[in-house]
Amino acid sequence: MKEALLWEKSAALVRCRLCPHGCTIGEGRRGICGVRENRNGTLYSLVWGRPCAMHVDPIEKKPLYHFLPGSSSYSIATVGCNLRCRHCQNWQISQMPRNGGDITGEEVMPEKIVDGAVESGCTSISYTYTEPTVYMEYALDISRLAAARGLKNVFVSNGYMAEEALDLIAPHLHADNVDLKSFSESFYRDVCGGSLEPVLRTLKGLKRMGVWVEVTTLIIPTLNDSVDELRQIAEFIKGELADHVPWHVSRFHPDFELTGLPATDRLLLEKAVQVGKDAGLKYVYAGNLPHGSYENTYCPRCGKLLVERHGFAVSANRVGDGRCQHCRTSIEGVWE
Ligand code: SF4
Repeated sequence: MKEALLWEKSAALVRCRLCPHGCTIGEGRRGICGVRENRNGTLYSLVWGRPCAMHVDPIEKKPLYHFLPGSSSYSIATVGCNLRCRHCQNWQISQMPRNGGDITGEEVMPEKIVDGAVESGCTSISYTYTEPTVYMEYALDISRLAAARGLKNVFVSNGYMAEEALDLIAPHLHADNVDLKSFSESFYRDVCGGSLEPVLRTLKGLKRMGVWVEVTTLIIPTLNDSVDELRQIAEFIKGELADHVPWHVSRFHPDFELTGLPATDRLLLEKAVQVGKDAGLKYVYAGNLPHGSYENTYCPRCGKLLVERHGFAVSANRVGDGRCQHCRTSIEGVWE
């Protein structure tokens, strides 16, 4: 437990400023995320130093495809999330603390996390699985130590954070894969318990601050799969971020409260890839499609295969110095 950042007293209550919910929290109560609590008029993070997961993952699992391909990332999470997506695939840990539930996890100091990353040969630490915004204080402390030891810091985030929270963490981040779950306010409200606009603002802020950004959209049959909505997402990425920002369209499978919908059909994912390409995006990827080429990176100019992937494994990387080895076109990303 540690005193939180970004909060203020509000009469007899405290107000958390970490994310757009801006929770006003009474004595002994927690905010919507369930991991920040008012104790005697001070806001505390209940998850500082309490990771519930620590794993070595391929960076491709985040997914990040243009950021140190083939490298390992020390991946951590605490319980808690500031959204409540009805299709969450990690709901057992993301939703656990809501409504006063347990804060689980072993006590691990930031130094130990960084030691674990170095000792396991990782080149980065990923703050992932749940929403790192809600364990911002822990992520900040780790990321400062990590950078001093030559490690990169990676967020895998829903992007639902306040501007001043982004200002705090962005200088320490090297990459961020942000979920852009939909381009509809009603989807964010009804399916996720949040709103769209702050996510778009975070994406633009990350880009402006020089963090390498990739975007992921989970395509859910009937909820966010119209060509019109997919085109709006692709056009936002191209127009407001850049045409070289990778877009990952990924496969929904029934989970948590959305077990009544089918898994995403292969044709639907292929359609989403085509929508992205038609909108002018250079790199559009679809994961979880066996026997396909949708996980590979191709040169947008000469079309040659540059990075060959099979699931999370990289079997060939011909980008080398950040250029296509065939036609010397610059391939945007962080390659070494
Ligand atoms: S981080 Fe948690 S407590 Fe703070 S505003 Fe967001 S949901 Fe509320």
